[in-house]
Amino acid sequence: MSATPLLELRNVTKVFQSGVRKTPANMTVALRDASLVLPDGTATATAIAGESGSGKTTMARLLLGFIKPSEGQILYKGVDITKMDKAQRLAYRREVQPIFQDPFEVYNPFYKVDHVLTTPLRNFGLYAGEEQKRIEEALEMVGLRPKETLGRYPHQLSGGQRQRIMVARALLLRPRIIMADEPVSMVDASLRATILDELRKLVSEFGISLLYITHDLTTAYQVCDDIVVLYQGTVTEVGSVEKVIRDPQHPYTRLLVSSIPLPDRTQRWGEDDSAITEEQARRSTSGCRFAPRCARAMEECWTQIPPLFRVDPDRAASCFLRKDAPVLPSEQVGQVLKVMRPGDAGNAPAA
Ligand code: SF4
Repeated sequence: MSATPLLELRNVTKVFQSGVRKTPANMTVALRDASLVLPDGTATATAIAGESGSGKTTMARLLLGFIKPSEGQILYKGVDITKMDKAQRLAYRREVQPIFQDPFEVYNPFYKVDHVLTTPLRNFGLYAGEEQKRIEEALEMVGLRPKETLGRYPHQLSGGQRQRIMVARALLLRPRIIMADEPVSMVDASLRATILDELRKLVSEFGISLLYITHDLTTAYQVCDDIVVLYQGTVTEVGSVEKVIRDPQHPYTRLLVSSIPLPDRTQRWGEDDSAITEEQARRSTSGCRFAPRCARAMEECWTQIPPLFRVDPDRAASCFLRKDAPVLPSEQVGQVLKVMRPGDAGNAPAA
């Protein structure tokens, strides 16, 4: 495994300005001091989870190069993605492939679905002379029959079939990373498990790393090894998905987990935030973003931003309730992720 990560988000902050003038009231911090590491040579599945407004979509747009960080860096194979030359940018666009939430929006209704498969091959100059064979192989890999899929218009296929074509399209480009943004939220429940299985196979069989962006902790738990939980632009808890979801340490993660059904009935569910007083809700905070909703907020929570505390070898939480644990600087977050932590073996990429 190369010492240089495949993809690294290093201390990234993103601030959006709404007016012409730069005043605190015009500035929204969508992401604050976030870091993430995907190693080179070992495929991993990492969930970026949170509610609407948590910063997960901002993180995805930053990683895809759609917007630039206000502070910090995004590095691909050690190169800052905002400073890449043309060839490096082209390689990055091919090797980091998105799969979006609404498979219908990606299609042009006037073209047959073949169009979304042939166009990227032409654009990237891949498989000249054997496009058809490669397309059919990719469709079969995601469980679709080429004869029943090709030659049809998008409206003639189900939402699940359209999303599987998107997975096949991503596979065709031989990516290193697939970034799937809520890929099953618009798909019938009956097909969700199949598509999630296919995403998981990308990691275990094809050696492609997966970034799974979701508000749904249940599917994150099914698909991923690691999770980064975001709340209002800050990382609240990060590390092993098993630890974070089975035994959350941050009050916000507990609240999220308490709303999903997990099979273990001995699980201790998190606090109910109905206990929050009006006075708490009114206080603005320059400290922990969760303080106005946190039933356990202390004085320091309102004035200081909690750093990440390494509460386990494979997990960190940004909450002063765990300040007994050592501080984990944001840029060292890789230490609690699957492939970096001692004793964990990753998945070797397919040859
Ligand atoms: Fe609650 Fe304080 Fe922890 Fe924030 S730092 S989650 S306010 S206890």
